[in-house]
Amino acid sequence: MPRIIFALCIAFTGIYQLNAQTNSAWFTARELAENVWLIDDHNAVNIYLIEGQDASLVIDTGLGAADLFSQIRDLTTKPLIVVNTHAHPDHSGANYQFKKVYVHAADSSNARNFGMPTQQGGASMMTGGQVPEKDELFTREPIFTRLAPVAEGHIFDLGDRRIQVMETPGHTPGGICLLDIENKLLFTGDNNNILVWLFLEGCSPLHEYLETLEKQKQRFSEFDTLYPGHGIPVSKDFINDQIACVKGILDGTCESEPYESFAGTASVCTWGRASVAFDPDNL
Ligand SMILES: [Zn+2]
Repeated sequence: MPRIIFALCIAFTGIYQLNAQTNSAWFTARELAENVWLIDDHNAVNIYLIEGQDASLVIDTGLGAADLFSQIRDLTTKPLIVVNTHAHPDHSGANYQFKKVYVHAADSSNARNFGMPTQQGGASMMTGGQVPEKDELFTREPIFTRLAPVAEGHIFDLGDRRIQVMETPGHTPGGICLLDIENKLLFTGDNNNILVWLFLEGCSPLHEYLETLEKQKQRFSEFDTLYPGHGIPVSKDFINDQIACVKGILDGTCESEPYESFAGTASVCTWGRASVAFDPDNL
C-alpha cells in the first residue's frame, strides 16, 4: 500500500456542544444534534451515526483498529446502513466489520483494499503509535463485506429523515458528502476540513476541486452546518474561504509555502480559515 495513500488527513480535536457522551477505551461518542452522534476514533477521525425512526446511518468506518460495530450497537439498535464518504483507510478501515457498505464506484477498489481486517495494524500511524487493548478488538467471525455503489442524488431513507448523496470529487475521485435534508446538515468527509489535502496520489486536479466547492455553494440554501471528517462542525460560509483559497492558488495571488507531512511534501496556501495543501504539478 503506498504510504502516501495511507496518510490522508490531519486530525484535530475540539470542544463540542455536548448533549450526551459515552466513552470506551478507544472511542468517545458525543451527541452533537438530535440523534446525531459523533464517534471520535481515538482523536484521529470522525465517524457519524444518525439514528432514524426505521434505520441508522453510519457515515464512515474510521481506522478499523478497534471494535466499531460494538460501539455503534451501544448507541442504536436500529438496522444499520453504512456508507463511506471516501475510501481512504482512516474512513473505510472498519468496513470489514459490516455486511454491506455503500461507496462511490470511483473509490470502490480502495474501499475493498483498505477495509480489510489486515489493515488494522496500519492505524497506529494515525494515533501516534497507539493500538487498542485486546478487549477493544473486533473478535467476531470474519464476514464478507459487500460493497454497493452510490451516486449523485441517492437517498438513504431512515424513516423520519432522509440523507442524500452529493458527489464531491477532489480529495478522492469518488468522494461524496451526505446531506441530512430535513435538518440541513452536511457531512463532508475530507472535502471541507480546515486543511484539505489535494496533493495525494489519486487526488483530482485543483481546478476540478474548485468546481466541487462551487457546486456546494450553489446548494447553500439546502444546508447550514458542515460536519467534517476531521475537526469540529463549522458553518457553511467556511466554503467561501475554501473557494477564495483555491482561486488564489490557481490565479497565483495566494502566496504558497512549502508543506511537509508524513504523506509527502507539497505546497500550502491559506485564506481566512481555510488551508489547502496542493501539488503545483496537478492544478
Ligand atoms: Zn481522506
